[in-house]
Amino acid sequence: MRPLIYAANWKLHHGPSAAREFAARFLELTKPIQDRELWFFPPAISIASVADAFRRRSDIRVGAQNVHWELKGAFTGELSLTHAAEVGATLTLVGHSERRHVFGETDEQSARKVKAALGAGVTPLLCVGETLAEREAGRTEEVVRRQLDPVAALVTDAAGRGKVLVAYEPVWAIGTGRNATPCDAADVHRFIRAYLAERGWPGRVRVLYGGSVNAGNTLALLAEPELDGVLVGGASLTAEGWAEIVGLGG
Ligand code: PEP
Repeated sequence: MRPLIYAANWKLHHGPSAAREFAARFLELTKPIQDRELWFFPPAISIASVADAFRRRSDIRVGAQNVHWELKGAFTGELSLTHAAEVGATLTLVGHSERRHVFGETDEQSARKVKAALGAGVTPLLCVGETLAEREAGRTEEVVRRQLDPVAALVTDAAGRGKVLVAYEPVWAIGTGRNATPCDAADVHRFIRAYLAERGWPGRVRVLYGGSVNAGNTLALLAEPELDGVLVGGASLTAEGWAEIVGLGG
């Protein structure tokens, strides 16, 4: 059985008390499963609560949804990697589609965040994916390549490269109820791996799929060996629902 990652992106849901309640219930409902890691990306204000609640579960890691590339300075409203790590974050999402499309984050900014995360000892999960118009225009690979390019240019050391994970999240599938088929996702995952390998990236990069994953489609998606796990928004918001999903697959 290959190791799988089940990552929950809570977006702007679950402040510290709701997050603690979720964690308490989730601990009642789940036990560690061999070769399975559970990753949680709560809102920044809840990272400490979630990391603390799960501190005895070695299969669970907690991360930030977004970070700044500078560790300190005059950056009002930003989240420092150092501060996130201090309260228990060992991971960060980078370049989630909402960062790119709602907040205007550029490919270059995402690359700087990946590099900064590696420098701070925090594992980056870089999100890439095309819009519906781009897919329909047959531009998926071009868009994903454009998003990966600055990362490949900026992260040049083998050790750092070996720590980067990628999430393929087609924008048209996020929060829409419309997921990519396992086969469509696998094609893009293969493309991502081949592209990075061509750039001298070492080993097999771990690639997760995200976009309207739920209890009904998780098994079919994870049956596709190109998928190393799932990144889940809406369906990760209740302890019961998320506990059901993390028990599926493999
Ligand atoms: C996400 O937020 O990364 C995501 C995939 O959301 P959803 O599962 O709700 O589509």
